[in-house]
Amino acid sequence: MAEALLGIDLGGTLVKTALVSRDKKILAKDARPTAAHEGLDAVLDVIVASVEAVLASGGRAREDVLAACVGAPGPSNPHTGVVFSPPNLPGWKDVPLAELMTERLGIQCCVDNDANLACYGEFWLGAGQGTQSMCLLTLGTGVGGGIIVFGRLLRGIDGTAAEIGHMIVQRDGRPCGCGARGCLEAYGSVTGMVQTAVEGMEGGRKTVLSDRCAGNPETLTGEMISEVAAAGDEFATWVIQETGAWLGVGISSLINLFNPEKIVLAGGMTKAGPVLLDAIRARALHHAFDVPAKRVEIVVAALEGDSGVLGPAGIALERLEAG
Ligand SMILES: [Zn+2]
Repeated sequence: MAEALLGIDLGGTLVKTALVSRDKKILAKDARPTAAHEGLDAVLDVIVASVEAVLASGGRAREDVLAACVGAPGPSNPHTGVVFSPPNLPGWKDVPLAELMTERLGIQCCVDNDANLACYGEFWLGAGQGTQSMCLLTLGTGVGGGIIVFGRLLRGIDGTAAEIGHMIVQRDGRPCGCGARGCLEAYGSVTGMVQTAVEGMEGGRKTVLSDRCAGNPETLTGEMISEVAAAGDEFATWVIQETGAWLGVGISSLINLFNPEKIVLAGGMTKAGPVLLDAIRARALHHAFDVPAKRVEIVVAALEGDSGVLGPAGIALERLEAG
């Protein structure tokens, strides 16, 4: 029987699992609710059930699986397999997830941060394939990050490296969810984009968005801003460009620091399309040094939803090969 790998994406809402062949093909996929509110044991049961489901539909037994890896939503230590305290998994504190899953599955299991794994997925099989150096930014409610150097994930001594969203781009700037001020995430995430729109509307800017949110800016969403911009609203277009400019500022530092071959952009916000991408590119290339700016390609991710399960499968294989 062919050897296989398990990639597991543990999100606050869904657990997604893929059974992947050693030649990098998805053999089976599963997704089911995490049951995060029911606590740790219930979540572990959901993961095991999801693994059983992909093994059954992929026609494999546990013995056919070489290794597994779980992507955790939030900070974790890939060296020890401990997940610290993910905001989306209530009650979790310093959970030795790699050890618990290895026991429950009877399969060697590792743990890593979900954004790092999405980066590895794009490097292994997506937009970063064939490079040796790339950075990935996931643009959603927050800004996640991953960095590949010398063909490997940059993890740092404690496994906390590559928090691109928490690079400070503005001294004493907007408060960020992490407790600091002026982080890239506070400006370049969907949350930051909405905040930019709200501030502009409070400052009296004219926009169709005022009607869309019926005078209540709290109900604004990233989709609303994108839709209204696509329909020609000048202010909404400016909001997207402004968000892109902040991201470009952060990305220019990545270009100067790492001289990467690619910067890959993933996540829901990339649906804003060329208005966002052009603003990011213009600002990033303007601030970066000439040589790395000429070298780098700033592109959209290629794997869409699958990077979250392919990344862990790839890391499971990498760790196996590294012994
Ligand atoms: Zn922050």
